[in-house]
Amino acid sequence: MMKYKTLILLLSFLFIFAAVEAAGPGEKGKVEKEEEIWAGAGFVKPKVEFIDVGRFYEKTRQAFTHSFDLTLVMFRGTGWSKKVVLQRLKKVADIFAQCGVRFGRVKFVEAGAPGGVIDFAGPGVGDREIAEKVPLTFRPVLFYFRSIPKFNAYAWPESSEDEEVSDALRNTAWFSLSVAMKLNIKIRRPNYVSEAHELGHILLDSLGHAGAGVENLMAESYEFENDRLTADQCRKIKEHRLVIPIAR
Ligand SMILES: [Zn+2]
Repeated sequence: MMKYKTLILLLSFLFIFAAVEAAGPGEKGKVEKEEEIWAGAGFVKPKVEFIDVGRFYEKTRQAFTHSFDLTLVMFRGTGWSKKVVLQRLKKVADIFAQCGVRFGRVKFVEAGAPGGVIDFAGPGVGDREIAEKVPLTFRPVLFYFRSIPKFNAYAWPESSEDEEVSDALRNTAWFSLSVAMKLNIKIRRPNYVSEAHELGHILLDSLGHAGAGVENLMAESYEFENDRLTADQCRKIKEHRLVIPIAR
């Protein structure tokens, strides 16, 4: 009798072990494959993680009709941390939730910057070279740098007509550590976050701002920036080609 029990116990362990093994390589393989892509493109020792986006919506009551995928690239040595980036991403989730839009797949990549460039000259100078290393299917993509002179953050929407813009730059946004520094946070509303503003430029496909004195996520100056989007902005966001209706 004991022998049977032992055998059953042993078999169930083997079964669990086999199940874990079967589930393991799938996810692990996916990550490894991604890391190969980033390493091959010149990103140094990339560490890729697929973020469980459910954590952002546990307390959200909003019904979602649309989603968009997101790739985050955080360069090492910039002062950014994954913890800070994900805390800020929660605010981004809340802001777009008001439109019924949520994250699809969020990929977080931590890597050494290609060529070690973590301080950055500015729009059109050096960003194109980095954007070109990232496959075009990974958009929108947000890059986290240490500093960008004269800029806290900026974005290249799809229809940017600047002569510097290449297809690789479209639907990318660039962030200096200054947006996460105390001084910058102090002058802004607690629910505002620059990633949402720059993603707003991308998803509204416009570098335009709300009119003078209008309080909005896309306000013209920081005194008027808040976490609100109008019904019209929400409608426009859902028309963006990267914002996909959720199948029911
Ligand atoms: Zn802006």
